[in-house]
This record gives sequence, structure tokens and C-alpha cells, in this order.
Amino acid sequence: MSTGFNTRAIHLGQEPDAQSGAVIPPIYQTSTYGQTEVGGDPTYCYSRTGNPTREALEKNIAGLENAKHGLCFASGMSAINNVLNLLSAGDHVVACNDLYGGAYRIFTKLYAKFGIEFTFVDATQPTNIRTALRKNTRIVWLETPSNPLLRITDIRACASIAREAGALCVVDNTFATPYLQNALQLGADIVVHSTTKYLNGHSDVLGGAVVVDSDDLHQQLRFFQNTVGAVPGPQDCFLIQRGIKTLALRMRQHCASAKQIAKTLAQHPNVEHVYFPGLSDHPQHQIAISQMNDFGGIVSFNLRGGLRAVEKFAANAGLWTLAESLGGVCSLWCHPPTMTHAAVEREVRLKNGLGDGLIRLSVGLEDIDDLLADLTKALDSAGKEIADTPAREGVLV
Ligand SMILES: *Cc1c(COP(=O)(O)O)cnc(C)c1O
Repeated sequence: MSTGFNTRAIHLGQEPDAQSGAVIPPIYQTSTYGQTEVGGDPTYCYSRTGNPTREALEKNIAGLENAKHGLCFASGMSAINNVLNLLSAGDHVVACNDLYGGAYRIFTKLYAKFGIEFTFVDATQPTNIRTALRKNTRIVWLETPSNPLLRITDIRACASIAREAGALCVVDNTFATPYLQNALQLGADIVVHSTTKYLNGHSDVLGGAVVVDSDDLHQQLRFFQNTVGAVPGPQDCFLIQRGIKTLALRMRQHCASAKQIAKTLAQHPNVEHVYFPGLSDHPQHQIAISQMNDFGGIVSFNLRGGLRAVEKFAANAGLWTLAESLGGVCSLWCHPPTMTHAAVEREVRLKNGLGDGLIRLSVGLEDIDDLLADLTKALDSAGKEIADTPAREGVLV
């Protein structure tokens, strides 16, 4: 479809209802469908297999990624699980090491036990992927920008390495959203999303999606979807669809505010390091420019003073809410070492650069002056802690 992003977001899969003319697709709150003949082949027979509200969303998300097929799930993790169902015992996966904690957990704690091997590499150097490839490598798994360090992986380079090796390239596009980055056009085979985040955008529903262009992959993944379940209910699909209509508008503001916040953090004496691909000193700033339309709404930073300073920050964070998740209208902050990445062993975490003072911000849509005022107040208060306490072991440098 050659129309613009907003037009697709608002109209794809959203034709007025044939029966009633309703401009918004009805919420088909049904588990099953009456059939008109014995042994017939009805369009809908059971809602795990198909539901019109879900199909409207699947069509819409596929269109946002300029792809042919979308599949929706009850969560981002069930979308990831759907893709992992492609693997068999004895297969090998190369994954980036700066990965969503839940993805790391499903790889190492669940699929590893079925005889699937995982190698984690720093994918910001695509040659590391080449080096890790084996004869049995089936998937190269990327997340860019990554969570929580916002490292950028060169999707074109990695996808072409995967293709040469006969492996599929999967990109978790949750942080960028289809508005900022279209990984399939950059050579990836499969895109996964946690629609819980920006696509829904209002912190009120869980969901996931898998997007592919290949008919063959679609057929396999559709079979797994129907076989495993974990499909979203029609109400959830409706909410995510409603969120998507304003995705572009929201993303523009998320990106603009995040830039200002990153600049403020970079100048604050109590901040050791800022991770944001929009800063010119970010190591993959140029790659970000080459594959993204903007830099996203997530900013991470190391607070000087480790855990004690983080506690002070927490007590003074004002309208920034301490919470897991991201991508909603409300600004959130989280402490990955004790929250999203608590499932990652401490030594693995430190080795991957996630120090004890790491804070991740999900910049919301409140007025930027209010966000900056409360952030500065929290940073200043953390500084008092630093002055009172001698430097502690385990503080990230
Ligand atoms: C949140 C998230 C997931 C998991 O999604 P859920 O909807 O929480 O199951 C996967 N990948 C990334 C990058 C995420 O941020």
C-alpha cells in the first residue's frame, strides 16, 4: 500500500462494517460461530483460529510494517514464543547480548531445555555474529534499539550475514515501532513487537505481534498460533487498534521530549553516562540515522552513587512513576537491575554494562517543562546522597 503512514494506521483493516456501516470495526466478543452446513468451510469457526476484530488488527499492523502478514498475540512474550516455535532440538540461535530480560529468560530457561543452543554476542559489531555462526544456526535475533542500553545494531549488515548463512533474521522492533524503523525493508525476515508498549501506547493492555512478508513463514507461524493459542481477546485488539491511530503523533512528541531530556541529563553533574542514540557521541549514532526516522522515546543513564542514589532518586521522582514497561502517555522510570533484568544473573548483567546505578526513562507526553523540573529535582536529591556517602563497590563506571 503506497499511502502515508497515518492513513494506513487509521484505515487499513478498518473498512466500515458491512452489516451496520459502523465506522469502527465491532468488537466480536465471541468464542465460536454458528455454521450453516455440515462439513462446510466457514470463514470463521473458532476464535483461537480466527476472529474479525483480531484480523482487523493483524492486517493493520502488517500494513504499518509494509508487510503482507501480521499475527497478533496476548503479549509480546507470546509473539516471541511463536517465532521460537520454528526451532527444533539441535538448532542454534545467535542473539544480541543486550536483550529484553524476558527474551533472555525464555531463551535460556525454557528453549535451552529443549536442546536449542543460544550464543549471545555484542551485535553492534556485525562481525561478532559471523564469528558465532554454526552449521545449525537457524535464527539471528536482534533487538535495536536495545533494552535498556539503547545500542543500535546495523540491521542491513546483520540480516545479510544471516541470509548468507541460511538463517532467519528476527528483529524485535518494540522500541522503534514501525513509525521509526521498518526492519523488513532493511533485510530482516521477521519482526516482533510487544504491542503493550508504543503501539497501544496507553499502558492499559498487553499484546504482541509478529510480522512477515513470506507466505511460507506466515503459514508456519499461523499454524503455531492456532496450535499454541495465547491469542489476544477482541477487547484487547480493539484497544491496541485505537492506540495505533495516534502512533505517529505520539511518537513525534515522545522523540522530541526524549531529546531534550537526554541533553539535560548529559549536562547534569550527578549523571555518569547517558545512553541515547540521538546524542552525537552515541557510538552508533550514524547507524541510527541511517535506519531510523528518529531516535525514540527511551533514555537510559547511569546515576552516580549506585543503589543508594537510585533510592534517593525514587523518593523525589515527582510525576515520574517507578514502574516496569514503557511507551505509554505517562512518563515512567525503572531500575533495570532490580526490575526488567532481575532474571539476568548479576555477573552477566555487569558484564553487559548494566551497572547498579542504571536508570531507564520512558518519556511520556506530559509537558516537557514539568518533566524536566521533576527530573532535575530527583537528580539533585540523588547528588546529596553521593556527597554523603563514599563511593561504593559495584558502582558502574
Ligand atoms: C516488553 C517487551 C517485550 C515483552 O512484551 P510483553 O508484552 O511484556 O510480553 C519484548 N521485547 C521488548 C523489547 C519489550 O520491551
